[in-house]
Amino acid sequence: MTLHIDLHAIVANWTALAAKAPGARPGAVVKADAYGLGAARVAPALYAAGARDFFVAIASEGRALRPHLPDDARINILSGHMEGADLTGLVPVLNSPEQFFRDRTMRPGKPFAIQLDTGMNRLGLEPAEWSAIRAEALAAGPDFIMSHLACADEPGHPANAAQLAAFRAMTDGCGVPRSLAATGGILLGPDYHFDLIRPGIGLYGALPFAEAQPVVRLSLPVIQTRMVQPGEFVGYSATWTADATRRIATVAAGYADGILRSISSKGASLYAGGTACPIVGRVSMDLITVDVTGLDDVPGELDLICPAQPVDRVADFAGTIGYEILTSLGHRYDRTYR
Ligand SMILES: *Cc1c(COP(=O)(O)O)cnc(C)c1O
Repeated sequence: MTLHIDLHAIVANWTALAAKAPGARPGAVVKADAYGLGAARVAPALYAAGARDFFVAIASEGRALRPHLPDDARINILSGHMEGADLTGLVPVLNSPEQFFRDRTMRPGKPFAIQLDTGMNRLGLEPAEWSAIRAEALAAGPDFIMSHLACADEPGHPANAAQLAAFRAMTDGCGVPRSLAATGGILLGPDYHFDLIRPGIGLYGALPFAEAQPVVRLSLPVIQTRMVQPGEFVGYSATWTADATRRIATVAAGYADGILRSISSKGASLYAGGTACPIVGRVSMDLITVDVTGLDDVPGELDLICPAQPVDRVADFAGTIGYEILTSLGHRYDRTYR
């Protein structure tokens, strides 16, 4: 079970997204272990390419990443300053007045950033809360002020312009670097770029960055093959029955490895080079069964994620998004890096 991760492609995607926002400092979102691909390898590769602003979700992720990056890399914690968190060497993005006062009391003089809510209603200070602490917060010198777009992957969605207007209204003239755009926001154009961009999924080769280079190839070993006769079934609940004599390969990975059970019977395949071998029957915990009748020779490994079936295609079969496919990839794979 090998998850091949192309660090050159990640760096190329970062460089390409950075080039779309030439006036902004390009950061990198490496939360959830760099979307499942390994933050300890991905973040240093991006640092070597010039990234200095990294984002993770929670303090423990930041602490795990800190030893892998030089001191001048800033590791921003999107959940901010949670009660009892150890934020040594990290930069909390403060999301509420409570977090702001906690942080200024516990870490006076230490770097911090501010998140404002501009309509997503998930994280960040509401306009009235911001008005109340704005003068004190600006006097304390935040590294940057950010907000997050709810609908940036839909360029025509009216929430984009509304959130942009709200962000401007709350931050114009504040004299602090500003950040609004993740991958989708970068693609919305220069109005959304401000001073610091925060690409995540686009680095890892998935939508909405349609021009991304592919980053991941997922190769699964064949354990055994067998012939099944017309009328014989394959797998749990006997959901698939052979219509003719078929050769079935059993492959060593399943939903415990993030190959979502919901792709069963949806038309997904494993690939032998360019040849599709349909997944038949249910995906089980550790195993997948595949119709390899069309192959002259069954190779030792078949690919689930590859150029012929990219991450977003697998996501379509599962009724989800590339983000969930990547972050579900489990810990049993050998992650190999190029
Ligand atoms: C996850 C996240 C990002 C990165 O988003 P992508 O869509 O993966 O580019 C940026 N900013 C915040 C606040 C996030 O939560």
